[in-house]
Order: sequence, then C-alpha cells, then structure tokens
Amino acid sequence: MVICMDFDEKLQVLVSDAIFECEGGKSVSARAVQQVKEQMLQESVYHAKVAGGTMPLLKTLLTNACIKNCHYCPIADYCDHRVVSFKPYEMARLFMAMHKSGLVNGLFLSSGIVRDPDTTQEMINETAKILRTKYGFLGYIHLKIMPGASLEAIKDAARWANRISVNAEAPNEHRLKQIAPDKSFQKEMLPTLEGISHVITQKRLEWLERKGKVQRTGKGWLADLDELAEVHLLPVLSSTTQFVVGAAGESDKELLQTTIQFYRQFNLGRAYFSAFRPICGTKLENAPAQMPIREHRLYQADFLLRRYGFELDQLPFDEHGNLPKDVDPKLAWALQHPERFPVEVTKAEREDLLSIPGIGPETAERILKARKEGVLLTAHDLQSLGVHLKRAAPFLTLHGKPLTEEVSVRKPEPKNQLRLL
Ligand code: SF4
Repeated sequence: MVICMDFDEKLQVLVSDAIFECEGGKSVSARAVQQVKEQMLQESVYHAKVAGGTMPLLKTLLTNACIKNCHYCPIADYCDHRVVSFKPYEMARLFMAMHKSGLVNGLFLSSGIVRDPDTTQEMINETAKILRTKYGFLGYIHLKIMPGASLEAIKDAARWANRISVNAEAPNEHRLKQIAPDKSFQKEMLPTLEGISHVITQKRLEWLERKGKVQRTGKGWLADLDELAEVHLLPVLSSTTQFVVGAAGESDKELLQTTIQFYRQFNLGRAYFSAFRPICGTKLENAPAQMPIREHRLYQADFLLRRYGFELDQLPFDEHGNLPKDVDPKLAWALQHPERFPVEVTKAEREDLLSIPGIGPETAERILKARKEGVLLTAHDLQSLGVHLKRAAPFLTLHGKPLTEEVSVRKPEPKNQLRLL
C-alpha cells in the first residue's frame, strides 16, 4: 500500500490503533476507534492516571503494520487496514512539537511487530533515544517491549524509559494460543518478563549504589537486606503488563494467579485488565463483549492482593473461578466469614483492621496511630480518620459497642448474604 500522508494524518491513524491498549485509563470500543479516526490531532492525547492526578500523554504506535495474527487485534496481519509508519526521528520531532505547544507531557510508545521483535524494539528505543539525547526531553516515557525481544534490546529500552511493559494478554499458554496463535507464553512472554525483571533489578541496585546503600563487588552486590526488601518501592524504572479479559474464556482466578506470579517472580509494578470488546474486521468480531464490571472486580481483587495482604485462596471465587459481580470481593469475603467479625478497632492488628469493609490501608495506619495517641473515642473519630462508617459499621465494635445504632447502616442485600453464606 502506498503511503503518502503528512505527520498529522499518520498520527491520526496510529493513535486510533493504539487506544485499545490501556494504562490505568479506559480502553474503547470499535465504534469509538472509528470515531477517533475521524477526530483531530488533539485526540491523540491520553490522560494517564498518575499519583495525584493525570498526565497528558501522546499514546501512539510507530507503525500499525504487524506480522502477527492476534484474533482480537484490528492491526493484525490478516486485517484489512491502512498501514502507516513513522520513522523514529519523525515521531520524535512530532512529539516535541506537541510537547512544546503544551499538548502533552509524556510519551507512551508501542508498535506493531515488523520483521522481528528486536528490529521493532530498536526503532522504539531509537525514538526515545532521540528525545533524550537530541531534544533533551526529561519527561515521562513509557516504552512497550515487544514479546520475544532480546535482553540487550530490553536493556537499551530501559536506558531511556521511565516505564517499560509487555502485554501478556492471557494468563497462560493454553489461553494465549486461543487468541494469539502465533505468540508463545512460555517462549516469548515469560522470557521477556524475566528480562524486564532482570533489567529493573539492576537499575534499582545501581540507584541504591549511587545513594551509598549497596556496594558492587566482583561477584555481585553487597547489600543491606532491609534495603533490598524495600527495593520494589524505589522510584526507579517500573514495569506493567496488560491482560485482555474474557477473550480466551479464562477465569478471574487464572488471571489473578498469573498476576501474583508476575508480581512475585518478575518485579511487576502493576497489572492492567482490559475487558474484551470485539472490533469489526477481527476474527473475534462476533464474540461477546465482556462487562466492564468484570474489569472493575479484577482491579478490586488485585488491590486486595497487592495492598491488603490478601492471599489468592481468600478471594471469594465461585465454582467457575470467577469473582461475584454484584458485590465487591472484600465485602463478599467478609460476608463469607462471620466468625472473623466484629473486629474491635481499639485492639485489632493491622491485618484485622484491613479485613473490615470500608477501611483501607491508609485508614488502618491512621487508626493505629490514633490509638497510640489515645484519641479514638467516638464514631465521629473513626469517620474523621477515613472510615466509611456505613460500610464498616456491621463489621466492627468500638470500645466493645456496635456502631449500627449510631450509624444509619445500609446492610448488604439479604439475597446476596444468603447466596454468599
Ligand atoms: S502482536 Fe498481536 S496485538 Fe500486537 S499489534 Fe500485532 S497483532 Fe496486534
């Protein structure tokens, strides 16, 4: 196909193909993809969630050509679509023009796979290198790592990026084959995640070395174990992955099992879940869309695993390995475990405070601090510390007394309780 488009035209096509990947924001339907294609250049700006707000990113592809045949993807090789590509210097120049005009503060760059993973990765890396070295851009850059990219290519991406990620798409080999027959979970995804993990660990150790907290020796690193225990919290390079939810018939349990494995084994910072929506012209165009609530429940469960200390076997999966849709997983767990409640908030350990619906990690810390200071006396005190009283009241006591009479409590639906209990 002959391509004769100016920068803006090229970008319009590429950003519209890029939006089916997400970073803590929302992904969109095929109809929305088409609408975006018809909109102006400004639509290429994507507002990613960051601590304390959002950041406008240029989220785009270097090329929408791809040699792979993923069944859900509108730019797969078998799809009939207009192919356009940027050269690294073109993309860098265009990004800087948008940045200077105040439209974007960061770049999220991905690509279809051309020729092989390393060739593509080199072009992605080259774009970031031009931004850092030629234009002196110091802001946020998120680079996609192509599944199957070599360790050298991953290391090079890590030189220029703040965040790197590879899309796992599915939780295991069997599921991946159903939606992406020419990708391999074992031979591409896991080695790539391992490479990313290795690179991130090195970056973090180098950061600690600069701070004088670890020492490099001939055989490796001499480190304070306490420092290493906190290493995943360091403000250095981070990694994420994304799953397409529901396209391969997988259960929530399969997705969360793999997510935990990635957190523990591969230094993963965050997993993103993108509910499958069929796109016209793809092999899965007639497959049913997944309800957004499934995506939402997965995020809630993921949060319980990462921040609340829940284990996978504590999550309230049904007989098919799926989370309840009609009630959030923490409330469902609490309703399934009446023997654990009520919790006396003036005496409970952090773990027990965290088991109460309506109390999150920050609130639990505030309660522990308030207890030490002796200022935890009334329901109002709890509320001012951040406790969601209506949710929490049925599950706690304060100085031995229930709060249900002081608070107008919306009790969980009886039918839910019956089903869950
Ligand atoms: S690898 Fe698969 S999901 Fe990624 S661009 Fe190519 S066809 Fe689409």
